[in-house]
This record gives sequence, C-alpha cells and structure tokens, in this order.
Amino acid sequence: MIVSVRRAVAVCALGAALAACGTLRAPGTARPAASAPTLAPGPAGLTPVFTHGPRTRDRSVALTFDADMTADQGRRAAAGEHFDNPSLIATLRRMNVPATVFMTGRWADEYPAQARSIGRDPLFEVANHSYSHHAFTGHCYGLPTISPARMRADVERAYAAFRAAGVRDPLPYFRFPGGCYDRRALRELRTAGVTAVQWDVVSGDAFATDADAVARQVLKGVRPGSVVVLHCTRSAAPVTERALRTIVPELRHRGYRFVKVSHLIAAAGDGR
Ligand SMILES: [Zn+2]
Repeated sequence: MIVSVRRAVAVCALGAALAACGTLRAPGTARPAASAPTLAPGPAGLTPVFTHGPRTRDRSVALTFDADMTADQGRRAAAGEHFDNPSLIATLRRMNVPATVFMTGRWADEYPAQARSIGRDPLFEVANHSYSHHAFTGHCYGLPTISPARMRADVERAYAAFRAAGVRDPLPYFRFPGGCYDRRALRELRTAGVTAVQWDVVSGDAFATDADAVARQVLKGVRPGSVVVLHCTRSAAPVTERALRTIVPELRHRGYRFVKVSHLIAAAGDGR
C-alpha cells in the first residue's frame, strides 16, 4: 500500500509547527532530530509513506544508499567480510554528490568511525534502516521477521546506535528492510515519529556483478523527483561504486541535480 503524500506534508520547524509533526522529543531519548521536514500522518494516523518528490521541471533526484547489516552478521564481519564501502563514500565526496544513507544500527555498531564521518558530513544525511535488518512483515526476501511488539524498539535502538557512534541529528526517516511493510507495521511505528521512505527507482545493485547494467537500469528509471535505492555494502553490492561513476555524470548531463531525501520531502510540502 502506498499512502498518497501530496499535500500531506508538514514541514517541522522549531516552535509552533512542531506539534504538527508528531511527538515531541524528550531530551536524552534515542529519537531523531525534530527539525527535519516530515510528512503529516497518513490515514488513521498511520506512519506516512514517501515514495518520490514532485515531478516538476526542477530536475532533482535523490540517491539513497542502504547500509545493510543483519543483526547476526557480526561473525561474518569478524571473518573478513566487508559490509561497508569506503570507496563508495569517497566517490560521492569526490563528485560532490549529496546523498541519504539509510543505515542499520548494527552497521553503525560495526563501523562507528565511518558512521560518525558520514553522520557529520553536511554532504550526507543519515536515516534509519532499523537496527537488526529484520523484516517488518512476513515473507520479505527470506529475512528473519521481527515481532510487532518489537518494531518501534528496533527503530529506536538504531537511533541509539547512531548517537553512540557520534552521528549528529539523524533524520526521522525510516526505510523498511527489504522495503516490506503493511498496515500493521505502519500502525506499530505511528508513535516513532518517522516518515517511511520507499523509492520509485530500483537500481538492481544488490548482488549485481555488472556495473553497466546497474547504471542502465538507473538511467532508464530516473524522472524528476525520483528516489533511487542503492546500497552501501561491498558484501551485497560490489559494483555500486563503479556504476555511480557512470550514473552521476550522465544524470548531470541530462540536467539533473542531486539532493537529499529531506529536500524532496520539503519540496513536496511547498508544492514545488
Ligand atoms: Zn536493506
């Protein structure tokens, strides 16, 4: 189910508008920054879902990178498997591409220096991809499933991990592991103060071996306001950095500019 977000946006600001954006943040809790643009709750107060920005002449596109690590993958990391991708982050910096990183809390625990570096770089914003990377529905790409009672706690545990790593002001955006959600999941997270962020362009970079095929798929799919899902983990997305070296210059050549998800959400609220 995709909840329509048109006109349903409230841009949070400190002060009077804050109450429109959901629960206030108590000092010291593991909650996201309250100053980011967010969507108003969906029907029946459910967690709002954002899929793409306005389809305007302003050719903005948001590249998003899921930093996946499932709760039980620590042993594989200890054995030398790389769930991070420093050269990908370096390439984004070198090409000056703003991006949103949907990080799992487990990833931040494993790579705190990188999480902190990404989380303190104004080029990037860090958003929440759960702590455990367990599925919030049944039958989601074989991922273990989290019980409804633990859904909100898992999201908040990720924010706690970000703050422990030194990430400043993680965004109140949440990407469901595998992109799998249902009405129950949206209901369980309605008090977590997050906007669920999906995408309209699948890069196909997960387990891909052909960078050109990934680049072609992205370039074919992008439209103004698109949100592209990619991954920031060498383990499961080994050709993403190479694909970016084609994707970025070609989209710029086509008149696109790269923005973060928060920019698209704010633009949706402005009716731009
Ligand atoms: Zn993921």
